[in-house]
Amino acid sequence: MACERALVLLSGGMDSTVCAAVAARDGYEVWTLSFDYGQRHRAELEAARAVADVYGIPPVRRRTLDLSRVFCGSALTGDAEVPLDRDTAEMAAGIPATYVPARNLVFLALATAVAEPLDAHHLFIGVNALDYSGYPDCRPEFVTAFEAAARLGTAAGVAIHTPLAHLTKAGIVQLGQAIGAPLHLTLTCYRGTVPACGRCDACQLRRKGFAEAGLADPIPYAADGPPAER
Ligand SMILES: [Zn+2]
Repeated sequence: MACERALVLLSGGMDSTVCAAVAARDGYEVWTLSFDYGQRHRAELEAARAVADVYGIPPVRRRTLDLSRVFCGSALTGDAEVPLDRDTAEMAAGIPATYVPARNLVFLALATAVAEPLDAHHLFIGVNALDYSGYPDCRPEFVTAFEAAARLGTAAGVAIHTPLAHLTKAGIVQLGQAIGAPLHLTLTCYRGTVPACGRCDACQLRRKGFAEAGLADPIPYAADGPPAER
């Protein structure tokens, strides 16, 4: 019997890359879906391509949708400054400027529309409730509610897989390392710079995750970034 198809939302960041690695490990035929929504860190899309190459995913199984006219009003789309040098208490204090309104709702809805005609009944998304406490569309309740809506709104429904949902960033690093996810290819920095800035929330959470996991982060950081631990 042919293996089941999974559609992985692959941004080229660390979390979605570990998700792709989990789907591959679990024996799914992996398809990928990436979104160009005008994000500053569009270099992520190059990273997504490099990750897909690692898993031997042929071009026919890779989709990229242009949403650059959909999203606005976020620091990630260049409409405000990316916050820098915030400590964890500041990050946890509210919805950050890097929140893209309803992004995961839109992403999952589009992914469902892409998946159904492909007979891909499994969607993998790297949402993570612990380290991203400020993003309402990363909450497990949201994912559960979406799955119910998709079941009612499509012929086949989709199962939503969130293998990182209850992991800390350190746990994601450890999982990725254990299953050979190509973390060296991933791009995390909200500013999209190479080397990474080391100062935005995403860089800081990533560095903290590697430090807590006791592993060296394989990507380069700008020399003027702060130390990994605050
Ligand atoms: Zn950064």
